[in-house]
Amino acid sequence: MSTRGRAPGVDFDEVLLGGLAPDGGLYLPAAWPRIGAGDWVALAKLSYAELAARVTLPFLDGSVPPDDYARLAADAYRDFDAPEVAPLVALDATKGEHLLELFHGPTFSFKDYALQPVGRLFDRALRRRGRRATVLVATSGDTGSAAIAACVGRAAIDIVVLYPEGRISEVQRRQMTGVDAPNVHVRAVAGTFDDCQALVKSMFADRSLRAEAGLAAMNSINWARIQAQIVYYIRAYLALGAPKSIAFAVPTGNFGNVYAAYAARKMGLPISQLVVGSNANDILTRFFETGAMATRDVVPTLAPSMDIQVSSNFERYLFDLLDGDSAATARTMERFRAEGRFDLDKDRLSRARALFAGYRLLDENVLHAIRRIHDETGRLVDPHTAIGIAAARAKRADASVPMVCVATAHPAKFPNGMKAAFAPEEPPLDTPPALAHALARPESRAPVLANDPAQAKEFVRSIAKVAA
Ligand SMILES: *Cc1c(COP(=O)(O)O)cnc(C)c1O
Repeated sequence: MSTRGRAPGVDFDEVLLGGLAPDGGLYLPAAWPRIGAGDWVALAKLSYAELAARVTLPFLDGSVPPDDYARLAADAYRDFDAPEVAPLVALDATKGEHLLELFHGPTFSFKDYALQPVGRLFDRALRRRGRRATVLVATSGDTGSAAIAACVGRAAIDIVVLYPEGRISEVQRRQMTGVDAPNVHVRAVAGTFDDCQALVKSMFADRSLRAEAGLAAMNSINWARIQAQIVYYIRAYLALGAPKSIAFAVPTGNFGNVYAAYAARKMGLPISQLVVGSNANDILTRFFETGAMATRDVVPTLAPSMDIQVSSNFERYLFDLLDGDSAATARTMERFRAEGRFDLDKDRLSRARALFAGYRLLDENVLHAIRRIHDETGRLVDPHTAIGIAAARAKRADASVPMVCVATAHPAKFPNGMKAAFAPEEPPLDTPPALAHALARPESRAPVLANDPAQAKEFVRSIAKVAA
């Protein structure tokens, strides 16, 4: 079902391939599967892939047989470079502070944990329908490489990634432009990330192109990504021995990752607090402080994957805050789109604040935090993760409840931030061999695309034609 209530109920494959609901809303499950108090013991015995298959199977409405799905999950997480897939390590054991490492996938950010199974689900759904798709992605950082790694070599998929010329890091660029595969098409656009996103939107709005090229989206509003992210919150809880309650701190941009924690809570995970970390683009922190969701201009920071002023997944949580009233959700989102602002009443704000807290950390303090966390705990964390840890320490509501900080990327993805944090010394960076290898590949850099919908469409058409 859709948060805006004007789209018919659809099956899982349509949710997967469609992304956004036809009424402009976001898909949610019509009913939430529950994990009972008696289930934790059995779940604790499962491997990560087994847990993923078990926890998310009820969302598939029977569209994938359980045995096939178990195999798909095993395959999705097979090449992760840690046997636990999502290891939970101590940050400060005496204070009950932990770090959930979500950077052991092929491109070293948490986005692999969702996109690896989602790429496989896409391919399966398309092949069963005898269809092909052109997956269109605009990226400002980690999504592009994770989506490419999820789609590379898949027969039913072509993937087109647009990034803003000169506005992503060298590591992020090389992770994409070093992939040499016939179904991967990476192009720089002469413009900003917003321009790239506008090009993607204009292509989706073009019905004939949409049909001709079989356009599909894998961005973070896709429900299939959220469901896969629920798994590691449950896994962290099990790794702690299923305590009475648990808290998480999540560095947040689009509100997708922290919404998955909230979804785990709806399924029965006893989460008592969710701390949202922001950089200077602090729309969510201001919201949890004041109840006003109000956009400002995006400013570039050391944590570029959170340089966002519209958290598109927030609509899913808003739907709950508005007591499941889809008409009110639609009205509120419409106002936000038109005016760049909406306000929540006092009662609802206090309900939100009973679970959520927001905290912002500006660049200079991010550098201090990286250094201090390393000095105190021996752990090297990336700028996004440092923001989450600082937020956890500032906003933790109950010191007796274990606090799990989510590490969203490997520090080696952000060498410039790490260098700045340790200057004039060198950062103790340990680049994983697979990342070092990815960065050493020759780049294939195609001509820059003009920021012009007609040319972008022509480009996508030419790819679809070759593939057909
Ligand atoms: C994408 C990303 C985030 C933001 O996650 P959301 O789900 O958009 O809130 C945070 N950190 C890193 C490293 C990311 O790549």
